Amino acid sequence: MSEQTSLPYDLIIEGGRMVDPAQEIDGVFDIAITDGRIAAICADLGGHSAKSRISAHGHIVTPGLIDLHVHVYEYVTNFGVWADDAGVDAGVTTIVDQGSSGAWTFGGFMAHVVKAARTQVLAFPSINLLGAIKGGMEGPRLHNPDLVDVEELVKLAADHPQHVRGFKCHAESGSMSHWGTDVLKVAAEVGRLTGLPLYVHTGELFPVIEATRPNTRDVVPAVLPLLKAGDVLAHIYSAMPDGIVGREGDIPEVVHQARAAGVLFDIGFGVNFSYRIARKMIAAGIYPDTISSDAHGDFNGYHDDSGMDYSLCGAMTRLLALGMPLDRIIAATTIRPATVLGAQNRIGSLRPGMEANVTILEPRQGAWDMDDGQRDRITVQTRLIPAKVVLKGEVITPSCRLMRDLLGPDTALAAE
Ligand SMILES: [Zn+2]
Repeated sequence: MSEQTSLPYDLIIEGGRMVDPAQEIDGVFDIAITDGRIAAICADLGGHSAKSRISAHGHIVTPGLIDLHVHVYEYVTNFGVWADDAGVDAGVTTIVDQGSSGAWTFGGFMAHVVKAARTQVLAFPSINLLGAIKGGMEGPRLHNPDLVDVEELVKLAADHPQHVRGFKCHAESGSMSHWGTDVLKVAAEVGRLTGLPLYVHTGELFPVIEATRPNTRDVVPAVLPLLKAGDVLAHIYSAMPDGIVGREGDIPEVVHQARAAGVLFDIGFGVNFSYRIARKMIAAGIYPDTISSDAHGDFNGYHDDSGMDYSLCGAMTRLLALGMPLDRIIAATTIRPATVLGAQNRIGSLRPGMEANVTILEPRQGAWDMDDGQRDRITVQTRLIPAKVVLKGEVITPSCRLMRDLLGPDTALAAE
């Protein structure tokens, strides 16, 4: 559709700073939307009629944000939050659940999460048949080799090609101490058979058999030969001793080997994020390929999400403060995750014809204290706060209900 059309557009977003790394655009543009798709991008669409208009003056307009790592199988797992709290109500139009469902529990995930949410919900089901149902942190019971079934996983991917976009597995000391890389070898086979990426958790998680605890710096190198280009290693800026970078010394060789092999790095923010590691990596020019929140609750006692205080925009805000350039941050939350999902022709950019998913961020100025997972603290000067999202052409004002890290009164320093 050309911009000269005489029919009114459904919606025009006016005057925002559009940052769309997929098109290498960073500048002030108007965006026209019709029938749930991007219709036109133009420096000035003021002369065109539209059924509605929203002003984005002074705001940053990006393709709808994509969060590659959330946990949203609420009530079935011990840590699932409601999908829209991690999604549109946090400024995110597409979320990807990592490992909450498995081949035997995916039907419930489709019915009660994917179909019930406004947010677009995709999934990397767990490599085990059950997913992370209640008790999922008891690794040996749920994540052992007996609960992995190649045929079931291949069938699941074939049955749900729109929603199953990869598989979740774990490379950490607990599982290694129990069964080495046995589960990961099967995961790699499923990845090859389906052509889908693996998303690999790193950093100690499950109970460890001390007698067979692996050397902390051997864990990630043991996994790397099993991965293929396009697989994703999670928690790149974690300070866990058995994580990708570890705690001490220089950047380990495995980081360079992984990049050379085409393996991608994800933030997986939450409790795994360390400013110290982030600074070390950024100083070496090693940025995350994708930024995700790892949004989840802690519902082992009762269903209460009031302790959750991090978000995708919170991760983006911290990385901006640490010196990651804005266009790289936006790429890591739009076109990069869209490519991991094999959906780069549909989402992740504002190219005309693509789904009209847009996030409008307010860059709010003023000094704020923000913690990392180790309770280290930095002061940020610019917070990226979601003001509006557009989802397939529909305008939504995010409730920001679970965004205490960006909006909560406790973290605010005295206003300037
Ligand atoms: Zn997670």
